[in-house]
Amino acid sequence: MHTGLEDLPGGFERLAAFYAERARGGVSLIVTGGFGINAQALGLAEQAAHSTLCSEAQALQHRVLTEAVHQEGGHIALQMLHVGRYDYATGGVSASAIPSPLSPHVPHELTSAEIEQLIEDYAACAKWARMAGYDGVEIMGSEGYLINQFLAPQTNQRQDQWGGSAAARQKFALAIVQKVREALGPDALIIFRISLLDFVSQGSRFEEVIDLAQALEKAGVSLFNSGIGWHEARIPTVATVVPPAAFSWATRKLREVVSVPVITSNRINTPEIAEAVLARGDADMVSMARPFLADPEFVNKAAEGRSQDINTCIACNQACLDQIFSKQAVSCLVNPRACHETLWPVQTTSQSLRIAVVGAGPAGLACATEAAGRGHQVTLFEAAPQIGGQFDLARRIPGKEEFSETLRYFENLLKKRNVQVRTGERVQAAGLAGFDKVVLATGVRPRMPEIPGLNHAKVKTYIQAIQQPQAIGRRVAIMGAGGIGFDVAEMLSEPAHQGSVDALIRYQQEWGIDVTMTQAGGLTSPVASPSDRDIVMLQRRPGKQGKGLARTTGWIRRTQLERRGVRQLSDVVYERIDDEGLHILVNGESQCLEVDHVVLCAGQESDTDLLAPLQAMGMPVSVIGGAEQAAEIDARRAIEQGMRVALAL
Ligand code: FAD
Ligand code: NAP
Ligand code: SF4
Repeated sequence: MHTGLEDLPGGFERLAAFYAERARGGVSLIVTGGFGINAQALGLAEQAAHSTLCSEAQALQHRVLTEAVHQEGGHIALQMLHVGRYDYATGGVSASAIPSPLSPHVPHELTSAEIEQLIEDYAACAKWARMAGYDGVEIMGSEGYLINQFLAPQTNQRQDQWGGSAAARQKFALAIVQKVREALGPDALIIFRISLLDFVSQGSRFEEVIDLAQALEKAGVSLFNSGIGWHEARIPTVATVVPPAAFSWATRKLREVVSVPVITSNRINTPEIAEAVLARGDADMVSMARPFLADPEFVNKAAEGRSQDINTCIACNQACLDQIFSKQAVSCLVNPRACHETLWPVQTTSQSLRIAVVGAGPAGLACATEAAGRGHQVTLFEAAPQIGGQFDLARRIPGKEEFSETLRYFENLLKKRNVQVRTGERVQAAGLAGFDKVVLATGVRPRMPEIPGLNHAKVKTYIQAIQQPQAIGRRVAIMGAGGIGFDVAEMLSEPAHQGSVDALIRYQQEWGIDVTMTQAGGLTSPVASPSDRDIVMLQRRPGKQGKGLARTTGWIRRTQLERRGVRQLSDVVYERIDDEGLHILVNGESQCLEVDHVVLCAGQESDTDLLAPLQAMGMPVSVIGGAEQAAEIDARRAIEQGMRVALAL
């Protein structure tokens, strides 16, 4: 997992601290993020980057990583990467001059001499890795990177010795493994990340994957790791919509035809899921990436039978993958310390204060648990009968069910750290006298736009719609197309019959995954499942809806709603709501949407009712999360701010 730390000043030291913490937490084998095998491997724009390993000086720089892991009793392998045509800046190089859909540039078609040189570069990189102290290497042969581009007919249309037949397309991968094995000798670990399902048209067929795996094993591979889907694939492979261990069945097919151990991956985020995968015989080992951002102690906690204490990765991508694609260091929504270990160490306080935290949404939960962990005496007030705030609504959205795990984690931590939790108590300013400090984490409430008829019985807030979706009629207008508008549309458009279908089968059918493994690239036609409700989403601004959704998940949500037949209207003026429905102006023309309900998803406003009275009492107050700023508030900002304020107490 690339962390984005590699190129920051002092980044290797931060990365060493990150890896050391995971090794201490019980991880047996760490595989780094992809490091370029030569100066061009990550794309020309990245030439100056530290994310390559092709010289002695760089090998010495890596020692801080390998030594940190070895000191904690762990093992570490270097992932060797060449991105090929995924060089977004220039198009890079590839087997054939065919651009990727993700880049406007045509890649340079490698000559035979250039291919031979690249094979040497892989071997040289592996040698530098050993000099740097790595226990071995992982050769990245999946996800649509250069080796994968040689393997698939879609990107390899050469007619020389490197293309044409499946055997010729596989020659590049085989030659790399042979050379790397020669370079490293018999003992070093060589993992090959093999693409089991490309999820692109004219991708490899599974029979070709089997032939490749068997030949690679003979060439010296010690372990296979599973790769699922190219980066350009239009099937979600790690997002929340993907069910747990959704691809271990594919790893099992590989396991049946090779004799070295195989590793499975993707959406394995609890010890129970991992154990079930192993017990079924789907794989010999399990690899996880994001769960180790969420909790460095995952393995130790699992080994001690404390899985209830694990801070579970909820597959949101918000602080990890979305960050990487905007070229920033990764972190984690549920654990902001990830990759920031050296910047935010836990420090116990020398003066224990009486702290009141008002509001048990993500901001309040993070602040209360962190402050108590530092040794303060914390009381947490929450008006609702349960903790969670808006997050308690989020977890009811189909696909976001695992958000409940975050609340389970906080609930346990509150108990462990002796936070006094007072749910069902809407505290007033007077009730906070006597505390040394108050943290207001009172969050947000729905914005009520000034539109005639807003009090009509047809109008529901998003809170009402999420809490009682069964009370929403067949014809629905959703006012507002931000994150919550999309979530509400997903919830209301989910076909009722889908509840009875197994989640994995439903996902495979909805996205067109070929479980027979007979089709090229593992693709088949998606099965449409239109919404039972007639839903229209509205926004006032012109243009396509959902532009502000996250980079790695926005397309999934837009595709899903489109396939369900949810309509979208932009550039809308709201006129009024009455018995007939919602009256709007579109392109200057009046029309009435005859709907049963109008669901308000028109943004949110901060709840700061307590601030002025507390200030008047002279009480020291900090305001965090949505209460501090409602615009663009999400759980990520709320949790990080809660933690930071607690660290400053
Ligand atoms: P809140 O969550 O609003 O919590 C404030 C709490 O304070 C409430 O529980 C309230 O009852 C309590 N309170 C207020 N006044 C008092 C008082 N006087 N006494 C006691 N208690 C009081 N974010 C993401 O990052 N990713 C997502 O995928 C995501 N999906 C979402 C889906 C939905 C449907 C919704 C509604 C939100 C979603 N969010 C998501 C947004 C995220 O949940 C919010 O940004 C986050 O909860 C804000 O946290 P907060 O702690 O600041 O406030
Ligand atoms: P939002 O994303 O800001 O969207 C608000 C919507 O309301 C917009 O479509 C806006 O569009 C409309 N609107 C604003 N003022 C209006 C008014 N006066 N009258 C009518 N319409 C109005 O906010 P949100 O959907 O409430 O989400 C809140 C936060 O939760 C977001 O910042 C987001 O980060 C977070 N969230 C995240 C996710 C996720 O999956 N990551 C999911 C849900 C929520 P127009 O102004 O064009 O009409
Ligand atoms: Fe998992 Fe979200 Fe954290 Fe990424 S940011 S590791 S997806 S919980």
